[in-house]
Amino acid sequence: METMGCIWMRRLRLGTNSLLLMKPSSTSSLTVTSSTTTAIPSISFPSSKAPPPPTLISLVSSHRRSLSNTACSSALPAISFDHDDDFSDAGDGGRIRNPKNGSKLLLKGMRYTELEKWVQSRGYRPGQALMLWKRLYGNDIWAHCIDELEGLNKDFKKLLSEHAEFKALSLKEVLTAADGTRKILFTLEDGLVIETVVIPCHRGRTTVCVSSQVGCAMNCQFCYTGRMGLRRHLTAAEIVEQAVYARRLLSSEVGSITNVVFMGMGEPLHNIENVIKAADIMVHEQGLHFSPRKVTVSTSGLVPQLKRFLHESNCALAVSLNATTDEVRNWIMPINRKYNLGLLLGTLREELCFKNNYKVLFEYVMLAGVNDSIEDAKRLIDLVQGIPCKINLISFNPHSGSQFRPTREEKMIEFRNVLAEAGCVVFLRSSRGDDQMAACGQLGKPGEIQAPLLRIPAQFQMAVKASA
Ligand code: SF4
Repeated sequence: METMGCIWMRRLRLGTNSLLLMKPSSTSSLTVTSSTTTAIPSISFPSSKAPPPPTLISLVSSHRRSLSNTACSSALPAISFDHDDDFSDAGDGGRIRNPKNGSKLLLKGMRYTELEKWVQSRGYRPGQALMLWKRLYGNDIWAHCIDELEGLNKDFKKLLSEHAEFKALSLKEVLTAADGTRKILFTLEDGLVIETVVIPCHRGRTTVCVSSQVGCAMNCQFCYTGRMGLRRHLTAAEIVEQAVYARRLLSSEVGSITNVVFMGMGEPLHNIENVIKAADIMVHEQGLHFSPRKVTVSTSGLVPQLKRFLHESNCALAVSLNATTDEVRNWIMPINRKYNLGLLLGTLREELCFKNNYKVLFEYVMLAGVNDSIEDAKRLIDLVQGIPCKINLISFNPHSGSQFRPTREEKMIEFRNVLAEAGCVVFLRSSRGDDQMAACGQLGKPGEIQAPLLRIPAQFQMAVKASA
């Protein structure tokens, strides 16, 4: 019989605005019930690009055919792991219109060239576009409304008030952790909530960690966000505005925000179109002007998208590795069943040959008894051989329902030392903001309906049981 995990993996591919919603039934299998429809938030879209209605996906194989003949068949593209483009962006990459009001432009969803073109098409000089861009992103202004656009032509401001939207997010709440980390909750136009984290660091570096999706389809077993399933991709405007809002809200408290990491909710490269666009906007030298080396996009290992990212963006790349064998990675990061370690690391080895002075960052969340042995350290040394890289060893951050334990500090140090002695550039990263659920892998709110936990390989059952 197929495990729930296998079925989940088959069903992982989603359209842009589809949902993965699963509800445990009273038996051991998972079923979709009609009551789950009440859990789906309503989302509105411009009429020109109306998406299919939200979709429920069964995890029970015997129901698959009947579901695909009803609601699913019209709503979803074929869901399969047999195609190379399984995780390609599903097509809202160019959306720069307000989803609630299709006639209004989302200013923060536009690259500078797009903004300039639009301004000129309305009969204004490019200088007005540049001035607007600087008001939106530069000079410590970070304008959120028309009143903050000093110096712009009066008629141009009128045009903007009629045809443009400044805000893509509404501030819901800011939580401050004991170590000074801030978690910012934003409400989106459709009522969904995302989280952004600002991490001050004493060495004059403050990082904003942005979300790229509401939830995530990847179902990494150690991650709280993964429990949510995917609700939807964020638009470029919703991603960019997290960084703008963080600067606007917190720069005076925490100092200049110097770094951006796409390590919040979601798999950034599943939403590659909007993520590349948002990163482009963030590094524009007349605007937010982050250094491309200080904007890091993380991935669980979507190989075709990773290649595309390396070709199209000059921002930094992080790969969440977390295991040294396919067996363990297949379990804790199911994306490995599609793109295994050999393929992922071989691709990086090949692609990075063409990049000058470029190092990929490997992230390795340490899970007690699962991936933290000295044998793992030795295998890791072999795996990254020939790849220009740095390695971050990250302490696992427990969350409600998690089945893993963090590796003890002494063991992390021992693991680090083995790597360092072999010549790897390796860092130990401690948890930040975990008392407010703001640390790595703790974002989001899965609720009652959750992605399934996968079958634990026999040899790790003791390690996982010990943490229960
Ligand atoms: S670790 Fe990242 S890719 Fe994996 S489920 Fe969590 S958010 Fe998604």
